[in-house]
Amino acid sequence: MKNLKIAIQKSGRLNEKSVLLLKNCGLDFENYKSSLITTVANFSLEILFLRDDDIPGYVEQGIADLGIVGENVIEETRSQVQYLQRLGFGRCTLKIALPKDSPVDRLEDLNGKSIATSYPNILQNFLNEYKIKADIQEISGSVEIAPGLGLSDAICDIVSTGGTLKSNGLKPFVDVASSEAILIAREGIEENPIICELLQRIQSVLRAKETKYVVLNVEKKNLDQITELLHGVKSPTVVPLAEEGWVAVHTVISEDDFWEKINKLKSAGAQGIVVMPIEKIIM
Ligand code: ATP
Ligand code: MG
Repeated sequence: MKNLKIAIQKSGRLNEKSVLLLKNCGLDFENYKSSLITTVANFSLEILFLRDDDIPGYVEQGIADLGIVGENVIEETRSQVQYLQRLGFGRCTLKIALPKDSPVDRLEDLNGKSIATSYPNILQNFLNEYKIKADIQEISGSVEIAPGLGLSDAICDIVSTGGTLKSNGLKPFVDVASSEAILIAREGIEENPIICELLQRIQSVLRAKETKYVVLNVEKKNLDQITELLHGVKSPTVVPLAEEGWVAVHTVISEDDFWEKINKLKSAGAQGIVVMPIEKIIM
């Protein structure tokens, strides 16, 4: 059977985490900085390393079967691809930002103003939705300096911490879209058994990342209270300890309510709590 191809970013913000995700799925491949294509030794897959802007197009045209790319790029290129899985990394927000002393106060004040951006399509959709007529100035990079140079009244760009905005005398005004890395596939290929297998592996890695393995000791008389607090993969495993009247409880809890749960467990009499990372969870 012919190998499938997955396109990932060659270098940049998504490269490292895309490579790590595939390695955590048990895929064995070399990741030389110079190579544009590599074959996975233990799975029917080839990996293409590309500029992120090109990934949705390659997948749409079927040159690659799968891709990992930011939602912002998929939406901007308006590519016809399927979203297979949100991947939980590369999170960022596309925002409109204004010079600190801008007179713009409400969204309607953007009427007649010019906005510099590398995301003209996403911005245009947003402006249409709010019936705002502004002049979009498309530039490919260093968007933050446009107002300072007198090119535009505002910008629309990706912001994660806001540090770049601040150092260019800008302030965030409104969120246009949020984004994270997505596993995409070309239309009509989702039934392919290799894709199903890869997707299952990816999902088990993501599930494991969201959860921790917890072991704790508790006096038997407090066990009911502890098990009530723990809704693990199934019910917790309870093992007797050498010391009479004590047990060890093993379970899996979600990262989200981790601290809240740990504190409640301590109050309910849990001792010697050990928290461990999980590599994979197969359902
Ligand atoms: P390429 O050379 O592949 O075209 P790039 O310079 O266009 O790379 P990067 O800056 O590496 O792109 O960002 C890749 C993706 O990472 C973005 O499209 C976005 O989805 C995501 N991302 C997360 N945080 C940020 C951020 N602070 N700024 C820009 N992109 C971010
Ligand atoms: Mg790019």
